[in-house]
Amino acid sequence: APAETPQIVVDAHGLPYLNAKLPVKKRVADLLGRMSLQEKAGQMTQAERGAMSRPGDIADYDLGSLLSGGGSTPTPNTPAAWAKMVDGFQLRAQATRFQIPLIYGVDAVHGHNNLAGATVMPHNIGIGATRDPGLAEKAGAVTAAEVRATGIPWDFAPCLCVSRDERWGRSYESFGEDPALVQSMETVIQGLQGRANGKDLSRGDKVLATAKHFVGDGGTAYGSSTTGKYTVDQGVTTVTRQQLEAIHLAPFGTAVDRGIGTVMPSYSSLDIIGDGQGPVKMHARADMINGVLKDRMGFDGFVISDWNAIDQLPGDYPAHVRTSVNAGVDMMMVPYAYKDFTATLIDEVTAGRIGERRIDDAVSRILTQKFRLGLFEHPYADTSGAAAIGSAAHRAVARQAAAESQVLLKNSGGLLPLKKSEKVYVAGSNADDIGNQTGGWTLTWQGSSGNITKGTTVLQGMREAGGNVTYSKDASAPIDGYDVGVVVVGETPYAEGVGDVGNGHDLQLSAADKAAVDKVCAAMKCAVLIVSGRPQLIGDRLDGIDALVASWLPGTEGEGVADVLYGARPFTGQLPVTWPRSQEQLPINVGDTSYDPQFPYGWGLTTLTKVPDGGVASLKALERAAAVAERAGSASAGRDIVTKARLLVQQKAGSALTAAASAPFADADHLLLTGKYAAAVAKLTQAYRAVA
Ligand code: BGC
Repeated sequence: APAETPQIVVDAHGLPYLNAKLPVKKRVADLLGRMSLQEKAGQMTQAERGAMSRPGDIADYDLGSLLSGGGSTPTPNTPAAWAKMVDGFQLRAQATRFQIPLIYGVDAVHGHNNLAGATVMPHNIGIGATRDPGLAEKAGAVTAAEVRATGIPWDFAPCLCVSRDERWGRSYESFGEDPALVQSMETVIQGLQGRANGKDLSRGDKVLATAKHFVGDGGTAYGSSTTGKYTVDQGVTTVTRQQLEAIHLAPFGTAVDRGIGTVMPSYSSLDIIGDGQGPVKMHARADMINGVLKDRMGFDGFVISDWNAIDQLPGDYPAHVRTSVNAGVDMMMVPYAYKDFTATLIDEVTAGRIGERRIDDAVSRILTQKFRLGLFEHPYADTSGAAAIGSAAHRAVARQAAAESQVLLKNSGGLLPLKKSEKVYVAGSNADDIGNQTGGWTLTWQGSSGNITKGTTVLQGMREAGGNVTYSKDASAPIDGYDVGVVVVGETPYAEGVGDVGNGHDLQLSAADKAAVDKVCAAMKCAVLIVSGRPQLIGDRLDGIDALVASWLPGTEGEGVADVLYGARPFTGQLPVTWPRSQEQLPINVGDTSYDPQFPYGWGLTTLTKVPDGGVASLKALERAAAVAERAGSASAGRDIVTKARLLVQQKAGSALTAAASAPFADADHLLLTGKYAAAVAKLTQAYRAVA
C-alpha cells in the first residue's frame, strides 16, 4: 500500500460482507442493508480522475468509481506509475466507513492503449478481418493481463457496434458490418473476463469488460436533413423492429450469454419505425435498457452511462438524472459533475421520483461486480504481471493478429508475396509511422502521428524480414531500377466524430498519398497498402495497381504486416466491411438490393496454398473434407478448407467478382462463422458457377 496513509476507519472489520467465504449474494445483501442513501448514491457515481484536484472528495462523496477518459492527460507512462496513481485513489476509498473499494475503468480498446510500451493490437476492424475467434480471445487475454497488471480492473471494451456506414468515425471500433461477424468475435469477452467469469474475474490477469454502445451506435444515419450537418456520430439510428433485433441487438444477446459484466448505452438516439415515439436518446430508453437488456436478455451486470451522456437528455438536470436512472442506468459517468449528480440523485430519491428499490438494484449490481473482482480482498494493484507488459509473448499475439488481419484485395500476376531477392522501393505516408498504424485511442483519445510508442513500423518490419528495401516517403528519391514498389498510404489518427479530419470524411486518400501511388505505380510493378480505419476510395486508380492490401490499423507490430508481405505467413484476411467504388454508394452493406461494390464483403485473396484447379470436382472434394472437419469439431481444419475453396473461386474470378457471385460468397462467410464448413463450401461452389 502507498506510504501516505489517511485515517482508516475500522468499523468494517468482522462484518459478514467482508467474509470471502460467504456467497456474493449474501455479502451484497449484508452490505447494502448497512448503507445510507448518500453511500448508495456515491456507488452510482463515476468521476474523471482529472477532476480529482482534491482526492479527499472520494471519501467525502463516497465515490464508487473513477475513470481515465480518453481525454485524460497526462497519462502515467510506466506500469508502476499507473498502479501508484490508482492505488492512491483507492487508499481514499479505503478511508470510508465500509471501505468499499473503488472500481477504476479505462478504455483499453486494442490492448492497453493508455500505456506507452504496451502491446497494441489491431483495432477491431482488423480483428474482424481475421475471422479467427480463437485469436480474438487471445488478444483479449493479452489486453486484460496488461491492464490488470497496472492496477486497473475494468475495461470499457469491446465495442459491439455493427458499423453500417463507414463515414462514421468509429467504424474501426467495429468488428464489421455483419452482426454474425461481430457475434463470432465476442470470444474477446472470454479473453478479457475469463471463461468462468464469475470466478476468473478475481485473477490478476482478468478485467471486467463492457459491451458498448447499447444499442444501434453503428447504425446512425449520415447527414441531417434539417441542419445539413454531418451527424453520423451520436446521431439517430432509424430501423424497423426486425432490423433492430437482427442487426444491432443480436450482438448484445451474445454478450449477455457470455457473461458480460457491464454495458454502456450509446450516445445516439433510436427511432424504431412505427413505434410512434420518434427518435429517443438511448440513455432514456427504459424499454431497451430495463425491458430488453435486463428483463428479456437477463443481463445481471451493471449499466454504466457514457461520458456526460445524460446531459444530452431533454429537460433540466434533475430530469436527466431521473430519466436515465429510471431507464435502468446503474452508474453514471459524470466526469466533472459528480457533486451535482450525487446531490441531485439524493433529492430525486427523497422526493420519491426515483424509487429506493431502483437504487438498491443499481447498487447491488455494482457491488456484485466489485465482489466478483475480488476488490474487497485485494483493493490494491497486483503488479506481479507487469513484467509481461509489452513482452515478446504478448507481442507475438499482436503480430499474429496483424498478419491475419491483412486483406489482399488484388494480386495481379502473384506479385505478393515479395521475394527477398527483389529490390523494393518503399514510399507513402504510413510506411514508417507507428502513430498512424495504431490510430485513435492510442496514448491519447485522438491518437497522433509519429513515433509515439514502442513497436515496429511496416518499413522496419520489412527490413527485419530481410527485405532489400529503399525508403523514400514522398517518392522523391531516384526511382529507376527497382523490381517492386510498396506504397503504404491511408489515414491519420482520429477517434469518434466523422473520422480523419486531415483527409476530410469522404474516404479519399490525401493528395500526397495519391501522388506517391501514381508516381511509384507508373514506374514499376507496385503493391499498395492502405493503413486506415475504413475503406478508402481507390476507384479507377485500381487499374494501375498490381496488388492492393487493406491493412486496417494493425497496431504496434508492423512485423506482422511484413510476415504476409514476404510470405512467412499467408494472406488469409477477409473484408469485414464492403469496399465501395464511390462516395455515392455510401452507405453500402452486404444484402443491399443493388449491391455492386468494388470488393464485396468477405472478399480476400489468399496466398495460403496453391489448390489444383480441378474446378467443381476440387470443390466437391473440399466439401467432403469440410464435412469431416465439421464432425470432428475442428475449427482450424474447417477454416483452412473453406479458405481453399475461396481461393478456387477467386482464381476464377480475378478481381472481378460479379454481383451474382458475391452473394453466395458472403453467405459462405456466415456459414464459416457458425461452424458449418461443408455448407460454406457448397455456397462457394455456387459462387464458382456464377462467375462468368
Ligand atoms: C466514448 C466511450 C468511452 C468514454 C470514456 C466516450 O466519449 O463514447 O466509448 O468509453 O468516452 O472514455
